[in-house]
Formats: sequence, structure tokens, C-alpha cells
Amino acid sequence: MTAPPDLPGDSPVGCDAAAGLMQPTGMDDDDLAPPAAERAPRCPVCASPATGAVCEACRATLALPWGMCPSQLRGRAPGEPTAAALIDRWDGVWRLPRRAVVGRGPSDGPLDVLHGDVARTHALLELSGAGWRLTDLGSRTGTWIEQRRVAGATALPPVARVRIGTLELFFLAAAPSAGRAAPATALEADEITTPFAIDEPHLGAASTPLLVEAASGWGRLSLGAHGVQVPSCQLALLQLLAQRWHDDHATEPAQRGFVAIDRVLAEIPWEATQATRTNLKQLVRRTRQTLAALDVDERLEGRRGDGGAYRLRGGLRLEP
Ligand SMILES: [Zn+2]
Repeated sequence: MTAPPDLPGDSPVGCDAAAGLMQPTGMDDDDLAPPAAERAPRCPVCASPATGAVCEACRATLALPWGMCPSQLRGRAPGEPTAAALIDRWDGVWRLPRRAVVGRGPSDGPLDVLHGDVARTHALLELSGAGWRLTDLGSRTGTWIEQRRVAGATALPPVARVRIGTLELFFLAAAPSAGRAAPATALEADEITTPFAIDEPHLGAASTPLLVEAASGWGRLSLGAHGVQVPSCQLALLQLLAQRWHDDHATEPAQRGFVAIDRVLAEIPWEATQATRTNLKQLVRRTRQTLAALDVDERLEGRRGDGGAYRLRGGLRLEP
């Protein structure tokens, strides 16, 4: 369901090649073509030449929650998009419908922010006759336009820095339709441990979120005052399963969240070059012991048939 909405090459509109094709034939190019400097796309925030929707220097000023990576931003391209979009730190362009709820989700909306600082339904962006408005939907961490905290429906300028909890984005009422960079870069194996939130935060009898702190090669899993250190393989397994649980939110409960064993073998950054099903069994056993040490056992379930599969029932709620 990840939809980096507008990858380069999706639409030729606005690129140099398309502009050339659209010129009338038989006329002198010099009369029609504007100077190259005017043709170059400009950053709507600082007006310097930009290759993306917003220039890299401006995007670098966007604040991010602790440990956030591009894969924590997910969404669905709207059926009837407007010209407006939210631009993230990685130049992802999240095109908005006329009424867009942004939150942790999961939702069918244009942007879910998988982070504990963001409420399930956090903020509403809405286009009316008077233009775009932004409303906070009662979040704990707040919604901001520039430096101002938003309560009721507040008018959005055509270009604005918007903050959803601790995540900053640029709002563009008229976002360019081309010339943007890919929103997500491939993650290094060490970064796979980045936390994210899912839709069922309660684990076991405890209502305290299970926390994951990640570092290179290992991490720490904690529930309330209890904590254990775990190697990155276990964190990678938990994240893989938690992410599938999140992605499968529309699947019936009995089937939800299973990842085939072959897929797990391919996705985990094993230390051995040729990981086997036996390696995975051992990893699952060790991970179950880790969860049992936190009194959240019986969460990592196996399933026979079709080569076997695992899931993490209830997923994980991960916070910085
Ligand atoms: Zn700029």
C-alpha cells in the first residue's frame, strides 16, 4: 500500500522534452522559448532552482521525529487529486484530495505517518471555497502552521511549513507535477530497525506500549520498566512482521499479517550468507524468548501449509 505517489517519469508534463514538443512547428525557437533560466523549475519556498518539488536545501530544514525513515510514510494516491500536495523531507509528493485526514492510520488517506508522535487521526486538510484550511483533530502533540499551533480550522497559505506532531512537511497549494526526486531511498540493513506504530498498540495484558530503540547491530525492546537487549536480526524479524500486520489491516483477522517463510528468509539481513529454514526456526525461538521475557509471549505465531508462515499478532507499537 506504499504509494510513493509521483515517481520521476510518471508524467512528462513540465519536463524540457515535453515543453519542446508542445511548441508550434515551423516557428523560430528563439521567439518562443523563454530563457533557460526562466524555464528551470524554481523552489516554491526559496525561489532558487530546484530539481524536486521543493529544493534540497529547504527540505533539509524539515524537522523529523526521532529515527524516522522514508518507509514510515505511506499513503494512497487519491482518486480525485487536487493540485495541492504535502512534500516530505525526501521529496515525496503526497497529492491531496479535497478532504484529507493525515494521521498514524492505517487509513485509505493520502498519507499515513507511522510514528508514535502522530495520532491515529491527527489533522484535517480541507479545500473549500475560501481555500485550504488545516484543523487539528485533538492530537496530543499538536498541529502547526509555521510557528503557530493550530486549533480550529485555520487558513493555509499557498506555501506553508506544516508540522504534524514532530514531523514537518511543506504544504503546496499548487505542487509541480514533475521534476521530483524519488521520495524514498533504499535502507541500509542497519536502518531496518527504525520504529513505527501500528493500529493495535496493546500487547498482552499490559496497556503500556512495547518500545523499540534501535542502534547499529542491536536494539532494546522494553515494556514499562522492563527492557532487554536484542540483536538486529530479531528486530528485523519483528519489524518485518509488524509491518505486514499493519499493511494487512483490511484482511480478515484469521489471515491477517502472515509472512511466508521464504519471504522472511529473503528479507532478514542474515549474518550467514545462506540462511536456512533451520536458521529461521532458531531465530523465531530466540525472538519468542525475548518476547516472553517481557511477558508478551504467544504473539509470534507460526502457520503450517503452503511452505509455512509467521505473523506477529497485534503487531508492535514502537515509539522513540
Ligand atoms: Zn528552496
